[in-house]
Amino acid sequence: MPTDPRDADALPFEGMERPAKKRRSRKAAAQPAEPKARAVAADPAKDRVRPIPDPVTLHSHGPARVLALCNQKGGVGKTTSTINLGAALAEFGRRVLLVDFDPQGALSVGLGVYPHQLDMTIYNALMERRTTGEDVLLKTGVAGMDLLPSNIDLSAAEVQLVNEVAREQALARVLGPLLPRYDYVLIDCQPSLGLLTINALTAAHGVLVPLECEFFSLRGVALLLDTIEKVQERLNPELRVEGILATMYDARTLHAREVFSRVVDAFGDKVFQTVIARTVRFPETTVAGEPITSWAPQSPGATAYRDLAREVLARA
Ligand code: ADP
Ligand code: MG
Repeated sequence: MPTDPRDADALPFEGMERPAKKRRSRKAAAQPAEPKARAVAADPAKDRVRPIPDPVTLHSHGPARVLALCNQKGGVGKTTSTINLGAALAEFGRRVLLVDFDPQGALSVGLGVYPHQLDMTIYNALMERRTTGEDVLLKTGVAGMDLLPSNIDLSAAEVQLVNEVAREQALARVLGPLLPRYDYVLIDCQPSLGLLTINALTAAHGVLVPLECEFFSLRGVALLLDTIEKVQERLNPELRVEGILATMYDARTLHAREVFSRVVDAFGDKVFQTVIARTVRFPETTVAGEPITSWAPQSPGATAYRDLAREVLARA
C-alpha cells in the first residue's frame, strides 16, 4: 500500500540518509562505500517496466484532454517534458496544443519562437476581451502541434487578474473554444503556485508532475498536492493527478535509484513507469529550437518521451 504522500510524517524521505558529501578524502574514496540499510534494486525503474499498448489510430479529433505540467520547483523538466510529450503525441496522430504559461517564454524559445518579437501572446487573450486564443495561435515545426506563446508580458497578468471577476477561470475561458479541435492541450506552468498556476489547474483535467530524482524534490510535492486538493474542492472538482514523471534520472547513482524507489513507495501506480534519463541531448534541443523526437529521433530521450506518450494515452 502506498503511504499517503500528503501526510507530512509519511514523506518518503523520512529516515533516508542525506546524500554523502561530494568531497571525500582520497583515502575514503579508495574504500568501498558503506553498505546502506535498505537494499535498492540494481535499477528500480527497469524493474517496473511492463508492455504499454500501442495507441489506437484516431479518425476524428477532440474534444481535448487538458494536462497541466506543474511543479513549483524550477529546472525539473516541465518545459522539456511539455515540448517532447507534445511532439510524441503528435507523432501518434494526436492534435496537440501547447500553452506557454510561464512569462520566461522558455517553451516558445524551445520551439524556435522569439517571444520578445511577438505582438500578441497568451497575455492578450487573457486580458483583452476582443482577443481570442485563435488570434494568438502559432503553428510549430511539428505537424499537428500548435502553440499559444508567451513572453514577459504575462508576468503583468498575475497582478492584473487579481482585480478581475472569475480571475481563476481566465485561462479556461481562452482555451474553451479551442478544445474541440485538439486531442491534447499541454500547459507549461511557471515555477510557482501563484494565480497563473491556479488558472492552469482550473483549466486542466489532469496534472502531470515532473519530478527530479533528488533529495529535496519531494518536500515541494506535498505542497503541490495540497494546492491541487484546494483547487479540486473550490474550483475544479474533475481535476486529478494524471501522473508523476521521474526526470533527470541517472541509474548509475545509488542516490537517484534510492529516491526513485521512495517516490514509488509513496505514490504507487501514479508514477509513470517511463523515466527520463539525464542527458545533454535535452539542453542541445533547446538551442536547436525543436523537440528531441525530430532533433535526435533515435536517441534514448526521444524513445522515452514516446513511451511516456503511450502511457498518457493508455491512462486517459
Ligand atoms: P523547468 O521547465 O521545470 O524549469 P526545463 O525543462 O527548462 O525545466 O529544464 C531545465 C534545464 O534542464 C534545461 O536546460 C533543460 O535543457 C535541462 N534538462 C531537462 N531535462 C533534462 C534531462 N532529462 N537531462 C538533462 N538535462 C535536462
Ligand atoms: Mg520551464
